[in-house]
Amino acid sequence: MNELVLVVEDEEALVKGLSLSLKQAGYRVISAPDGPTGLRLALEQSPDLVILDIMLPGMDGFEVCRRIRQHSTVPIIMLTARSDDVDVIVGLELGADDYVTKPFNTRELIARMKAILRRVAREKEDARDAIRAGDLEISLRRRLVTVAGKPVALTPKEFDILAYLAAQPERVFTREQILHAVWGYDFYGGQRAVDVHIRRIREKIQSRPGAAYVHTSWGKGYYFAYRPAPLAGAQPAAGDHPADAAPGGDEPTATGPRVGTAGGQDPCGP
Ligand code: CA
Repeated sequence: MNELVLVVEDEEALVKGLSLSLKQAGYRVISAPDGPTGLRLALEQSPDLVILDIMLPGMDGFEVCRRIRQHSTVPIIMLTARSDDVDVIVGLELGADDYVTKPFNTRELIARMKAILRRVAREKEDARDAIRAGDLEISLRRRLVTVAGKPVALTPKEFDILAYLAAQPERVFTREQILHAVWGYDFYGGQRAVDVHIRRIREKIQSRPGAAYVHTSWGKGYYFAYRPAPLAGAQPAAGDHPADAAPGGDEPTATGPRVGTAGGQDPCGP
């Protein structure tokens, strides 16, 4: 569906001309001739963008902008009547995204609208695309993993495994499932490859001692879940983290699972 633009402006001729141009550019348009109506439509009609004049009957554009921002992040472009720096600064401080100075070129306004709407769409896409847990962020589209904002260099297979597990937190996947999802059915390298990759992923995304993201479900497989590090002063786990062991019985594990270590305790047990 085409994007909906709300024009809040009391100059009838300007609204008419602008509405026509915006419709020709493919937008749906609604308009309000005064501040209170503009505020109401901005909140009730959920427009994709608001073009907001400053000089308005009932309530000025600054106040409308301020009140919209209490409830909504809709992009706002202010129309300033003159190239008045104060108007511009006040508008931007109140949360407007951009401004154009009257008299303005409609094509320039539409270019700015497009830039803002593209940015908003990108931000929405990023938010949808990202998996966040604790310090860890996985961007599926950009195939990028960060821990506490720092990029982590995962190999493509490591990334695929992490993304596969993280897409369904707390769900246990067997090594066969992981193999098939990441390597495909024609891979004969054995389940050991999964263990090796999981170990490397853990080493790379360990944000702080004791915090863990990829866990072992004993005898079953692996799962993704964020378990923060135990609080300072809590009894630290001795030796290896239980999550570091492989799930299968065929894996040599030095110590086996322990019970009662905060943070790393395995809910599924051996
Ligand atoms: Ca006006």
